[in-house]
Amino acid sequence: MALLEVTNLDVRFALRQGEVRALRDISFSLDRGERLGIVGESGAGKSVAAFTILNLIAKPGYIAGGSIRFDGQELTTLKPKALQKIRGNKISMIFQDPMMTLNPVLSIGEQMVECLKAHRRISTRDARNIALNKLRQVYIPSPEKRLDQYPHELSGGMRQRIIIAIALLLDPDIIIADEPTTALDVTIQAEIMTLLLELCEKHNVALVLITHDLGVVSQVTQRTLVMYAGRVIEQGPTREIINDAQHPYTQGLINALPQMATPGQRLNQIPGAMPSLANTPPGCAFHPRCSFSMDDEGNPRRDCRGLVPGFVTSGNCHVACHMVRDLVERDPHDSGPSK
Ligand code: SF4
Ligand code: MG
Repeated sequence: MALLEVTNLDVRFALRQGEVRALRDISFSLDRGERLGIVGESGAGKSVAAFTILNLIAKPGYIAGGSIRFDGQELTTLKPKALQKIRGNKISMIFQDPMMTLNPVLSIGEQMVECLKAHRRISTRDARNIALNKLRQVYIPSPEKRLDQYPHELSGGMRQRIIIAIALLLDPDIIIADEPTTALDVTIQAEIMTLLLELCEKHNVALVLITHDLGVVSQVTQRTLVMYAGRVIEQGPTREIINDAQHPYTQGLINALPQMATPGQRLNQIPGAMPSLANTPPGCAFHPRCSFSMDDEGNPRRDCRGLVPGFVTSGNCHVACHMVRDLVERDPHDSGPSK
């Protein structure tokens, strides 16, 4: 049984102007100790997916359908109190902005002790010792001193290390990290990612890493899920996705990676922009930006504009694209579109 099993998840926002479909038919699973990347440009619905797992979706957002099972337990119907127990304890979150987690008026030690005491029967002294230990695990220099400091007294990188220490505080099974390093300097980004990877491996914690950066995903995760306009459009083993992406959107993301360009070459950005979730194009939502939405004769591929593509299996990946389907059906051994 998978540790986390998300099936046909449907999330909507009931706005005055009408209902916005933020997530459509999202399915994925996560095994114990596994690291999954969720990638896409901003507005693809990645963060909504992350927040929904812990039912942190704020009104007017709501789960309109589907299921989220953690360790066999359905989370979508769980009472707030029961969910609170799982949150932090079994599944913890790391946000892009450390200040979303840290309380500015409490010292680091106070917040860590408070968090431990909220979930465990434990003395303040023991809680403080556990906190100290966690700070050591994330290689915080002079950890005793840090316990008495306030968030504003620490650098961004240091704060994010503390967030990781807090995320690990209750020995969770899963950490969900939403763009955990985007707000940091590039050099510190790499350090924090390496640390997160090291700790997840060491403690057998599963990781859901939400990011716009396929480069980070390729370093850290074993499986990748690519999202576009509220849907998953490709998923599979990270290595296969990076080396042999099938979906034109994923190919576009990979071609836009700085490390894929030769020096001096301009990066190949995907033309156009992600549509707003309130106004997604019919058929394949990517079609206005897709150079394959025309067939070999230059005619619009009929299905791309009219029919939402279902998943087709290519290699070990699942891809939602009409063209890939055509290729796979024509030649089951074909490895997809040529790049
Ligand atoms: Fe492009 Fe059509 Fe595939 Fe969408 S379904 S990615 S428009 S070829
Ligand atoms: Mg986001």
